[in-house]
Amino acid sequence: MISFIPLGGASEVGASSFYLNLNGTGILLDCGLHPRKKGKDSLPAFDLIKDKDLDFVFISHAHQDHIGAIPYLIKLHPHVRIFCTTATKELASIALHNAAGILEKEMNQHPGMIPYTNDEVDMLVKSIIDYDYGEEFELSGLLSSCTIKVSFWDAGHILGSASVLIESSEKTIFYTGDINFSTQQILAPADLPEKKIDILISESTYGAIDSRNLPDLKTEVRRFVKETNKVLADGGSILVPVFSLGKSQELLGIIAGEIIAGRLTDSTIYTGGLMRAYFKMYDKFRFTTRRKNKNFLFSDVIQENHSAIRNLNHFDNKNGIVLVSSGMLLEKTASFEMAKFWLNMKKFAIFIVGYMDESTPGFKIANSSRGEKIKLTDFSKECIVSCGVQKFSFPSHSRREDLIKMIDKLKPRSVILVHGEEDGINWMGRKLLARKNELSVSAAEVGKELIFN
Ligand SMILES: [Zn+2]
Ligand SMILES: [Zn+2]
Repeated sequence: MISFIPLGGASEVGASSFYLNLNGTGILLDCGLHPRKKGKDSLPAFDLIKDKDLDFVFISHAHQDHIGAIPYLIKLHPHVRIFCTTATKELASIALHNAAGILEKEMNQHPGMIPYTNDEVDMLVKSIIDYDYGEEFELSGLLSSCTIKVSFWDAGHILGSASVLIESSEKTIFYTGDINFSTQQILAPADLPEKKIDILISESTYGAIDSRNLPDLKTEVRRFVKETNKVLADGGSILVPVFSLGKSQELLGIIAGEIIAGRLTDSTIYTGGLMRAYFKMYDKFRFTTRRKNKNFLFSDVIQENHSAIRNLNHFDNKNGIVLVSSGMLLEKTASFEMAKFWLNMKKFAIFIVGYMDESTPGFKIANSSRGEKIKLTDFSKECIVSCGVQKFSFPSHSRREDLIKMIDKLKPRSVILVHGEEDGINWMGRKLLARKNELSVSAAEVGKELIFN
């Protein structure tokens, strides 16, 4: 018998964590934090498994909404064994060390959370067991007599990202993690196993987005180049808020590639913070992961460190393209301060290239236009948008039609939809159920157990 219990990341993006019990072997698929919740609310609902067996954790990739809660999980389940790809293990080390530092500084904002130290992160990362894509490994839980065979499949989302294939004597389960079937600037699209799947646990991030609003990469790069050249020719600087892992690398890849091709004006490129540590990882793993151009090295791209710049007028005197995290321009970050400065500058522009949650300052800027009055936060003063604002789409998740194609290829008997908002999950569900085949479709809900015999 197989039992499936979502602990988080079911009908939303954040705190992804799904418990599976396969004939006595307890598994957790991902163990993330909710990026916009505070304190205990940001953790997966670990209480739901406090009396259950937990043997293994399989981590799909190193984004905080998939790994951020591991340091808390191991306090509750110290004997659990954690598995991921080799690249994810190294990225997780950077991400968790960084999070430990932030948590220590912001402890008063996280009621009920016990901070963890950098030493604990070191011990935790050392204990992670890593495998390459396609390598099969066998496991059996402490109280189970059955063996399971597990392998990671390139999910094409960020460096090291993987879908997880679990084969038992009764059922084959495939968990997509965050998956992307389109080629990005750096990464190759997802790779699927040639296997018949029984239970498919699929993300549905873009389920609510009409794919006609997701232009192909070439068209969008052309538009990005055209708009960037306009601002640079005018003497302005462009602020591009990006997530430090994934989007930063894709964007710097695009910018460097277009400058080399002679289409984008050669200007100063500013980067800073954590993204720089991730550039090194992308370089390190370029030959061992599937990607478009293995010879491209981030270390060959001349970059100025914006973290070292104290006076923001610098960007007026030496204009250029500025890649900055946080990706959603959250308050109390350097990018928030930069955005405030940018909004006052007529010749400057802010380019939005990724997802913005409705509650964030980034969302307010993304949905504003020149001359409009906006309030970045509830407590900030109203300001006029003097700079240009443009939106671009460089998706790192699959289009919804590609998810349906994946389901057609893997031919599962059951599909569980996770990691999406209600509208998206509903679109996917309706599309699948309209086919009138034997497929059973479930929308995951935190705490709602699904049983498969
Ligand atoms: Zn992700
Ligand atoms: Zn995610």
